[in-house]
Amino acid sequence: MTVSGKQTGPVLGCIADDFTGGTDLANMLVRGGMRTVQTIGVPRTPDAIDADALVVALKSRTIDARDAVAQTLAALAWLRAQGCRQFFFKYCSTFDSTDAGNIGPVIDALLDALKDLPGGDFTIACPAFPENGRTVYRGHLFVGDVLLNESGMQNHPLTPMTDPNLVRVLQRQTRSKIGLVRFDAVAQGPDAIRSAFDALRDEGVRVALADAVSDADLYMLGEACAELTLITGGSGVALGLPANFQRAGLLAPAGHASRLPRVEGPAVVLAGSASRATNAQVAAWRVDKPSFRIDPLALACGEAVVGQAVAFAHGHFSGAQPQPVLIYATTTPEEVQVVQHELGVAQAGRLVEQALAAIARELRTLGVRKFVVAGGETSGAVVQALGVQSLRIGAQIDPGVPATVSTGDKPLALKSGNFGAVDFFSRALEHLDGVVS
Ligand code: ADP
Repeated sequence: MTVSGKQTGPVLGCIADDFTGGTDLANMLVRGGMRTVQTIGVPRTPDAIDADALVVALKSRTIDARDAVAQTLAALAWLRAQGCRQFFFKYCSTFDSTDAGNIGPVIDALLDALKDLPGGDFTIACPAFPENGRTVYRGHLFVGDVLLNESGMQNHPLTPMTDPNLVRVLQRQTRSKIGLVRFDAVAQGPDAIRSAFDALRDEGVRVALADAVSDADLYMLGEACAELTLITGGSGVALGLPANFQRAGLLAPAGHASRLPRVEGPAVVLAGSASRATNAQVAAWRVDKPSFRIDPLALACGEAVVGQAVAFAHGHFSGAQPQPVLIYATTTPEEVQVVQHELGVAQAGRLVEQALAAIARELRTLGVRKFVVAGGETSGAVVQALGVQSLRIGAQIDPGVPATVSTGDKPLALKSGNFGAVDFFSRALEHLDGVVS
């Protein structure tokens, strides 16, 4: 990056607890004018990356808390070596976690690691993302018009969320004292928010849950966080961060941050999310487009499901009138429960993820170059199978979901379960076809 003729490197270093979460954050930063590269895991090389913001995407949301902490600290060390001066820990806007973590333990470890830097003694936690219906008021998380624990998230296969009071949820996960920056302060603007931070610090609070119900709140919160070394939250709270760097003269005014190279070739859609939004998207696609269902029980019996799915997709994209197909494991919460009862939660998830990853790998060998993937864990598995190491982030398809191009030149759209409108799959494919150069 060049600002006023002076060469600078990445300024903002982010760590995301899953792949689609990382992409969602990167999308927000690109929209704010930061050229952003997302890496899949901690890069092994210290090579400098040409970007204004870096996002290290981990797969640490549901692993053992000690492993999540170790991976996060490794990511932090790499980002510090890249020269980043502010750090962001990104988790889901529905605060996906269990009482054992991993949000609380990771925040504790990051604060411990950064405590000697100016502004490193305190941070905020704000999952609000109003554009996607996630708002926080008096510490309670709403999804649309209902509280978190009535939103469908109480049925999540891996991180069921049954308590909407995030001060309480986070306090159960951490030894740090949790406080609340109420809406009353947030609505008054950055000075009032900074005063609230100071008051909470005096009370011994290390992490302040922050209310936010609109983008305006998030911009003000972002501005108030300019001097904090660590910020934690959903991607919404990143809205206000690019302007901080612009004000500080560390970032050129927004230009072509979303520009991507063009890639030709067939496309497929892979869905391994069982969320409401993905169920609706699968139903909308199946009205008039070809699809193949993955049955986890058939996988468990050793049936040749992967080969059948690959043959089905190949038949469609290699024919006289090439057509992308959807391959999906998506089903209702009731059916997921039946399968989980039969196979166990972890085994059911693993079988589906491994099958979709194997399908992606085989289809890539057969020439598929564009992938739309639904599901956070699923995206992680697919990206790993394709050997993708980093992604340059392009224009937004739906809130939180940008088009991307991998360093190996494969365009991808990676969507966490609950994101996107019902016609997301079709529009994502159009987007990947039309990726601008
Ligand atoms: P989301 O982004 O909606 O949370 P994920 O891919 O992160 O989606 O998680 C969904 C989990 O549910 C994955 O582990 C996936 O393998 C599993 N899963 C998907 N479909 C089924 C199914 N039909 N039965 C059981 N588990 C499933």
